[in-house]
Amino acid sequence: MHGLMMDSPLLTSSLIVHAARHHGDTEIVSRSVEGPIHRTTYAEAEARAGRLAKALVALGVGESDRIATLAWNGYRHMELYFGVSGLGAVCHTINPRLFADQLAYIVNHANDRYIFLDPSFVGLLEGLHERLPGVEGFVIMTDAEHMPETSLPSVLCYETLIAAQDEGFDWPRLDENLASGLCYTSGTTGNPKGALYSHRSTVLHSFSCCTADHPLAISCREVVLPVVPMFHVQAWGIPYAAAMAGAKLVMPGPRLDGESLHELLQAERVTITAGVPTIWLGLLDYLAKTGKTLDHLDTLLIGGSAAPLSMIEAFEEDHGVEVIHAWGMTETSPVATTGRLKRKFLNLPRAEQRKIKVTQGRALYGVETKIADDAGQAQPHDGQASGQLMVRGPWVASAYFEDPAASAAAFDPVGDAAGWFATGDVATIDADGHITITDRSKDLIKSGGEWISSIDLENAAMGHPEVAEAAAIALPHPRWGERPLLVIVRREAGRRGR
Ligand code: AMP
Repeated sequence: MHGLMMDSPLLTSSLIVHAARHHGDTEIVSRSVEGPIHRTTYAEAEARAGRLAKALVALGVGESDRIATLAWNGYRHMELYFGVSGLGAVCHTINPRLFADQLAYIVNHANDRYIFLDPSFVGLLEGLHERLPGVEGFVIMTDAEHMPETSLPSVLCYETLIAAQDEGFDWPRLDENLASGLCYTSGTTGNPKGALYSHRSTVLHSFSCCTADHPLAISCREVVLPVVPMFHVQAWGIPYAAAMAGAKLVMPGPRLDGESLHELLQAERVTITAGVPTIWLGLLDYLAKTGKTLDHLDTLLIGGSAAPLSMIEAFEEDHGVEVIHAWGMTETSPVATTGRLKRKFLNLPRAEQRKIKVTQGRALYGVETKIADDAGQAQPHDGQASGQLMVRGPWVASAYFEDPAASAAAFDPVGDAAGWFATGDVATIDADGHITITDRSKDLIKSGGEWISSIDLENAAMGHPEVAEAAAIALPHPRWGERPLLVIVRREAGRRGR
């Protein structure tokens, strides 16, 4: 017997419609690419996202078409998150820090029809557009006054495009399992792989972000500043979750240095922020140099790479900001764990609490975690046994986008791990569920939150006629987390290279 409850689909459009209706005057503040601070509200964001959706429909964009973005965190990017997915198309966020070859591969593999780009990325695409034959047009995210001179073909201006449409888009009642977002990860060997989020997974991930023990725990009383870029796993879900809660959002644009972040954190009275350790080192340096304080910030989410103990101590002891360490991946939408201490640990001495806080946290409801050996045999959660970390849940990917070979490798583990996603991280899990990442089985180095392939580095070195053997290894680094060290064996004199 089925329950007798309404079958309302979980749609991304419902988040912005809710925010506009019930938190219409709550602000979205952005440091614009043009320079000045821009202020808008959820009511205006919903109206403009609707105009954008109408404009895309007028361009012939329909269900499941991919629309790419190359943009910093800002209000227009937020409108794309909602306007594109809300009409039933797929918002494909691209990481502009990737190499040209990877960018071309991603755009062509995704079959992107239009690319929306900040003016700062015009030069990048001018050098690339000839390799992107499927792209029908490039929409520059600015107004007519700031349109740059460009050799890009089929160029449109964002503000002119949406100004041609009226307000009042009738958001369609889509199937909640339709794709809403696409994000490629280079956190695997070989070509980047696409994680294809659905409306349902995005809304469920947003619900999670708004629960009390989540590292973000977003409510309508919070002011949230995602330092993590909107091209990295949907800014860890913050734009969608903030709309669900009706929280004020502060978008830092391209300026992620300590001084610029401090200015926004203080001026906009930010209470929650999130990003990778490298960013926070920049902020801590700035605070140490200037003696400035953080007067409103309550919570800082560190993820993407391991949070160093010294960083947790500096924020908590010197600045009164609670650090919550979390683990996640592009394939897990991404937030999968929380480092919020359980009640039974609240009376422990600080040093003991920090031993828990440096772990990668324990699974949030909705994500199941376990460790397994190479044969897929589940290992005990005793804090000692280690194995590859396996996860599953409604916001964990079930396959890579149009990549059966890569999908088979990651999503089809054997034994007890069948039906789970093999993360490539090696970990222990203790009796309280705290995960400690001890190693990585993937041949990659993570530097400042971005991936470097050791195999690519080794192949490049091996291409040199005087190199006989090469190995790239990750070295710990105070600013970047890890940096590559290339070790080579010289080819004997007289012998030719490959
Ligand atoms: P990405 O998909 O690019 O976000 O990278 C995900 C990977 O980053 C994970 O598989 C881990 O290797 C690493 N990672 C993410 N969060 C953490 C963390 N808190 N501590 C250590 N490594 C992390």
